[in-house]
Amino acid sequence: MGTYDIHDPRFRALIANQEDLAKLADGCRWSEGALYVPAGRYLVWSDIPNDRMLRYDETDDSVSVFRQPCGHANGNTLDLQGRMVSCEHSGRRVSRTEHDGSVTVLADRFEGKRLNSPNDVVVKSDGSVWFSDPTYGIDSDYEGRFAESEIGASNVYRVDPSGAVTAVVTDRVRPNGLAFSPDESLLYVADTGVTHVADLPRTIHAYPVKDGGLGTPSLFATCPHGAYDGFRVDVQGNVWTSAGSNVFCYAPDGTHLGTIKVGETVANVCFGGPQRNRLFIAARTSLYSVHLRVRGI
Ligand code: MG
Repeated sequence: MGTYDIHDPRFRALIANQEDLAKLADGCRWSEGALYVPAGRYLVWSDIPNDRMLRYDETDDSVSVFRQPCGHANGNTLDLQGRMVSCEHSGRRVSRTEHDGSVTVLADRFEGKRLNSPNDVVVKSDGSVWFSDPTYGIDSDYEGRFAESEIGASNVYRVDPSGAVTAVVTDRVRPNGLAFSPDESLLYVADTGVTHVADLPRTIHAYPVKDGGLGTPSLFATCPHGAYDGFRVDVQGNVWTSAGSNVFCYAPDGTHLGTIKVGETVANVCFGGPQRNRLFIAARTSLYSVHLRVRGI
């Protein structure tokens, strides 16, 4: 089976045709939250129902447990100092792992109410931390711990370096994946609300970033089958997103350039490797990767 479907000639410059998808690990129940750590040349990802984070070591292809239990961690990223920031479903918080291994809570409440279950997180160049807070970790005991939503809405929040938590996206049903465009003029937000409201579009919206807040969004893409969950952006501004059992690559203008066929439901992707041109793909039971001809941000 070929790895790629090419929809637009521009896709050929981004991929290496002779490169097939490689499976690096399996045995997970739901893989998500891939994060590459350049200093250690390893990748951390979350296996949410098993309440564990795993580590793939790029230097010897070994896989080990990074942290268990882990608050049913989902999305992970690095902050500007290289510290890991994690979204915890059952912890119902966004935490930061310090260089000495201790854990600091960045956010666990909004206006005095507990968060739902933070899902995906990105850090902006000003040090602010932006995260989505849908209900997947409190809907049942599968990906976290069943609980009623105290906030009663699924929002995207910004945590300022001062610690202040502000709701920045309040018009989505279940905001999920997040990423900034290369110049941080846009915040892309996936909505997987179709899991809770039938026949809802499965979308990514682009929100203009202005004065620390967000302007009126425009529709960037609609998923033809399955849904978008997590995604990342390359240095040219192309969006590489989970899309059902595939990874879709979209040009900055929203053109679907091509597809990486994975074969099981993809939750998240991240760029890694010493040249940041290796795309890691967290897909249900497994971790995959493929080397590209473009670098991630
Ligand atoms: Mg997600």
